[in-house]
Amino acid sequence: MGHQQAINEYARKHGFQQFCPKAVFFDMDGVIYDSMPNHAKSWHEAMAHYGLVMPPEGAYQYEGMRGVETIKLLARQQWQRELSDEEAKEMYAYKSATYAACPPASQMPGVKTLMQQIKADGLKICVVTGSGQHTLLDKLLTDFEGLLTEELIVTAFDVKHGKPSPEPYIAGMQKAGTQPWESIVVENAPLGVRAAIAARCFTIAVNTGPLPDAALQSEGADLIFSKMTDLSDQWSQLLKR
Ligand code: MG
Repeated sequence: MGHQQAINEYARKHGFQQFCPKAVFFDMDGVIYDSMPNHAKSWHEAMAHYGLVMPPEGAYQYEGMRGVETIKLLARQQWQRELSDEEAKEMYAYKSATYAACPPASQMPGVKTLMQQIKADGLKICVVTGSGQHTLLDKLLTDFEGLLTEELIVTAFDVKHGKPSPEPYIAGMQKAGTQPWESIVVENAPLGVRAAIAARCFTIAVNTGPLPDAALQSEGADLIFSKMTDLSDQWSQLLKR
């Protein structure tokens, strides 16, 4: 689908008279950092430690959910038991520690260039992540100094309901002071796309993982790219009206 066609279709679907972007909301894992292989590995190992099965592709399937919610879901499915908050938190802490022992994730190629383009266009840059892992959150502000500020970052600590609820993106729009028709989301995960669509933002999926494009398409992504460098290359064209 062409860019203009996607924008027209988006406005029609939501009944918006206009689309005038003022802020771009980036998901973190698999969008800003190439961190998903580490997450897949640490999810698998940490859950195995407790006797739960989390296949490597499961990390991609559940990506975007708050970690404690994913663990409760696995326990419900495999143990037919509702975990207490304390149990789930302890298991998530173990998962976070397993992640922290992995080699540091590199920046997704193209993301910094894209942020520089967005800044030059005068749009705000925000981050909306389900992550509650300090290892990565602390890195954000130093790695993207001059592009990101703490006030425009939404993490697992800021919301009651994580993705796929629209709450994180609604919280992000509140922080940025934008309406849905002024907001562009960049996501890589099906549940993240679902959250952004429910918040009625223009949603660009970048499929940086192993799932088929159909997994993002079926959640309603307005545009799909296969890598961040493609989105960066086409950015100026996308904003041209
Ligand atoms: Mg992600």
